[in-house]
Amino acid sequence: MRILIVEDEETMVTALRALLSREGYQVVAARDGPEGVEAAKTTLPDLILLDLALPGLDGLEVCRRIRRFSTAPIIMLTARAAEGDKVTGLEVGADDYVTKPFAPRELAARIRAQIRRAQSYAQADDETVLQMGDIALDVSSRIAMVRGREVGLPPKEFDLLRVFMANPDRVLGRDYLLDRVWGEDYQGDVRTLDVHIRWLREKIERDPSAPAHILTVHGVGYRFR
Ligand code: CA
Repeated sequence: MRILIVEDEETMVTALRALLSREGYQVVAARDGPEGVEAAKTTLPDLILLDLALPGLDGLEVCRRIRRFSTAPIIMLTARAAEGDKVTGLEVGADDYVTKPFAPRELAARIRAQIRRAQSYAQADDETVLQMGDIALDVSSRIAMVRGREVGLPPKEFDLLRVFMANPDRVLGRDYLLDRVWGEDYQGDVRTLDVHIRWLREKIERDPSAPAHILTVHGVGYRFR
């Protein structure tokens, strides 16, 4: 398991590195925002510890940018205890939040919990039947049931809904969704995703103009619930 630390304070990096190595993780560190986004892309971490106050780009913007292409759990580290920061962090796709100074054991426990959660999402990708609220998908027969009624979904809309349902209540970035549904070398129109989201909303939402399932996360992507 590899953990990326994005943190500009040298003493904090040293302390985290020692703690995480002791826990058996491989550690990669980035010292500012842009370097953190780049490292998330190139080192493919299993989890990211992200400082909120960073030079270059602040932690919230780094989180937003990483979320566009990655679903790795992100735990934000901050000296601020303001509730507003916490809420904003979670809205842009962070999974958890730890306020400095933190107890090493508590951080280690939260890291383990997030990694477990990520593994359970990976397993959901292989499930043959996905159920959430009033929507059910039979992946092998490719049948979608919405509020007890079978709904015909074209292949890309079905695949999109499947990715959403395997990742409930997670912020999924635009590039991540394009990669998963259209393939990594997708070269087409960037609006393709939005168009398919609109079609999907028309089929699964009670009120497509006020979606309850597929929520837009501005500047990042979508969240399904
Ligand atoms: Ca800092």
